[in-house]
Amino acid sequence: MVRITAYGGVDQIGGNKILLEDRDTRVFFDFGEPFNMTENYFYEWLKPRDRFGLRDYLHFGMLPRINGLYDADMLEDTDMSHVPPEFDAIFLSHMHFDHAWHVKFTDRKIPVHLGQTADTIRKSWEYTGASVYFGEHDYRTFRTGSKVKVGSMEVEPIHVDHSVPGAYGFLVHTSDGCVAYTGDLRVHGPRADMTREFVSKAAREKPIAMICEGTRVSDADKREVLSEKGVEDRVRKLLSTHAKLAAVSFYPKDIDRMRTFRDVARATGRKFVVSSKVASLLESLKTDKNIEVPDPMKDPNMLIYVRTGMSRPYAFEAKYMDKLGSNDHIVDSEYVAKNQNQLIYHTDFSQLAELIDVNPSPGSIFIRSMSEPFEEDDVQDEVLRNWLSSFKMGFHQAHASGHASKGEIFSMIRSVAPQVVIPVHTEHSELFHRCGRKVSCPKQAKAFDLR
Ligand SMILES: [Zn+2]
Repeated sequence: MVRITAYGGVDQIGGNKILLEDRDTRVFFDFGEPFNMTENYFYEWLKPRDRFGLRDYLHFGMLPRINGLYDADMLEDTDMSHVPPEFDAIFLSHMHFDHAWHVKFTDRKIPVHLGQTADTIRKSWEYTGASVYFGEHDYRTFRTGSKVKVGSMEVEPIHVDHSVPGAYGFLVHTSDGCVAYTGDLRVHGPRADMTREFVSKAAREKPIAMICEGTRVSDADKREVLSEKGVEDRVRKLLSTHAKLAAVSFYPKDIDRMRTFRDVARATGRKFVVSSKVASLLESLKTDKNIEVPDPMKDPNMLIYVRTGMSRPYAFEAKYMDKLGSNDHIVDSEYVAKNQNQLIYHTDFSQLAELIDVNPSPGSIFIRSMSEPFEEDDVQDEVLRNWLSSFKMGFHQAHASGHASKGEIFSMIRSVAPQVVIPVHTEHSELFHRCGRKVSCPKQAKAFDLR
């Protein structure tokens, strides 16, 4: 009997923690943090006290109380006692916060399986992020084509297209048949072929269940939908007649978007200036033969920005700072200020203050190349707008989502034709009833048996 229990990703976008049990084999698929997990009890500087491991998280029920799952160090200051691991493995579909972050709480003796590229991203994230650490696990990497045997299950990862490289869906071969898990995916990105491959391989297995993401399954989402090519076309058109600074913000792990801006820079005779953090990730990924990433140290259309006046810079940043003045790919705010009309300058919300030194001339533009805020009264958005109006900068939106639309998701489901669909990573599981297959909506931490 195969049993599925969702401990996260239920009626919410993100935080997937999906347990699959087959006979004595127990495996988690993803172990992420929900985006809104702490919002009821913590706010801004009021944060759970990480020095006490899981103490504050368990107090408010933010993580499930499951024996044999958490690390002894994480339980030391809690009312739960540590017992040896009762789980065989954790598989991560990709290295986004809402799918991977809580691995840091799990027992270091439970092996963590993830894509090779995903593991490179993990290491880069730990290197460049303040207090980012996923724990001392046995990280085992896979690629498409790998088949990983865990007890009575065999897990087959298949690459999918998403807004981060190294993203996978899984075909889990159990004693009762195949369970397909989509992870996060899309079919409007540059590697839609990978998602299609996942769908056709899943279809061939005639799955007994399909655990399916539904981020954009909604009747009310009015946010604009562009493809990656659409982002490129829009920004290129915008810059073809624009003679001032173009500042852009995007998710730091969205490598497709970096390529897009590099291409736009090339086409419009500009240079694309990325932060040291982005440059550091690109440099790590350069070692991965299986993906092609721009090289900011060599690409004639790219530059790396270093902050000045930092008394204690991070190691990754210091590495670039040391080369300021001796390497013409490394620039500071003085350079950006002087050459602003020839640049696409990457910034993000937390780095907006650099604009004071960059001093964009009035009429410069800011392109937000990430999701629009969900709420109309978003505080962060209001602050951003104040900055832009203070600099008299114009605002533009150009983003391609990492997720398939409702129609695309339903069409994938119809192609795969599973016996039952289990919606996760969605706020609208009730809409899945229109997908044309039998649907079973999971309930938080409630196990249900397949067949
Ligand atoms: Zn994701």
